[in-house]
Amino acid sequence: MKEEDIRKRSTLNRYLELVREDAARLIRDASGFHRTACPACGGNDLARQFEKYGFQYEQCRVCETLFVNPRPKYEDLMRIYIDSPSTRYWVTEFFLPMAETRREVIFKPRAQFVAERFPEVRSGRTADIGAGFGLFLEELKILWPGSDVVAIEPSVDMAGICRSKGLTVIEESLEDVRNAEGFDLMTAFELFEHLHDPAPFVAKVHELLRPGGFFFLTTLNGLGFDIQVLWEGSKSIFPPNHLNFFNPGSMVTFLENRGFSVIEAATPGQLDWDIVEGLYRNEGVDPGRFFSTIARHGTEDAKRGFQEWIRRNNFSSHMRIIARKV
Ligand SMILES: [Zn+2]
Repeated sequence: MKEEDIRKRSTLNRYLELVREDAARLIRDASGFHRTACPACGGNDLARQFEKYGFQYEQCRVCETLFVNPRPKYEDLMRIYIDSPSTRYWVTEFFLPMAETRREVIFKPRAQFVAERFPEVRSGRTADIGAGFGLFLEELKILWPGSDVVAIEPSVDMAGICRSKGLTVIEESLEDVRNAEGFDLMTAFELFEHLHDPAPFVAKVHELLRPGGFFFLTTLNGLGFDIQVLWEGSKSIFPPNHLNFFNPGSMVTFLENRGFSVIEAATPGQLDWDIVEGLYRNEGVDPGRFFSTIARHGTEDAKRGFQEWIRRNNFSSHMRIIARKV
């Protein structure tokens, strides 16, 4: 998979301009911003890293989680997700034109992975948190026709699309869901980095799972290759949307302190090298002398091998976590 298979460079850049306008609007009235301890380990030994779009990013000296601090109010963030020019652009220009490509390269493989990895849930109950357009659940339902799948999706438009596909929808933010206990599996893809406060989110997942139920999430790893090399220049780091960059170690601590045992903390990402090379070639970003040299002189085989090394050694920025309610 290549970066351009799932997102066009010009579309991503236009989206980020709109996000920057959201950030500026929030910053103009920052009176509701509040400081927080490390969202992963609760520590207060924090090192300031950089400012982006007016927001400060800090890193915990203990567990190395990178996060926005101080943080905007929950209500102000939700307003952006429910209705803003950036969200509308993301839906109409970013996601929908590539929805079928993304179905093939992201959502079908994801459903296949889940079907193989959690065979015991085959005829059980699965909830996808932040289900979006419902592509993952549609694909899962094909593989698991006897299962009960539920989309948890607060956006009115996207909840409507899920319903039109025949999916059961809970039209709420996870934190507000009531009377829906007993799931065998809950999934959250590319959502965790957006959370205003990860602790109550995970407490809610724990509450809604049956004992022994699985929590499967993917998110960004702040200690991953492209994020580490590009740091404040990384296009994965953008406030007010991406607030939390946990890493495999900090995620294990975080979940194990909240009633889960972690079965897997892996980084199966495929795009780290491609993202760095793409910025070097197309946007003049300097990834340092050695990686510039690889970009110019490395063979395709060398680059593939390097990405494989990144993936295998848990240094990709795309992280996959599988945990089980104790
Ligand atoms: Zn920490």
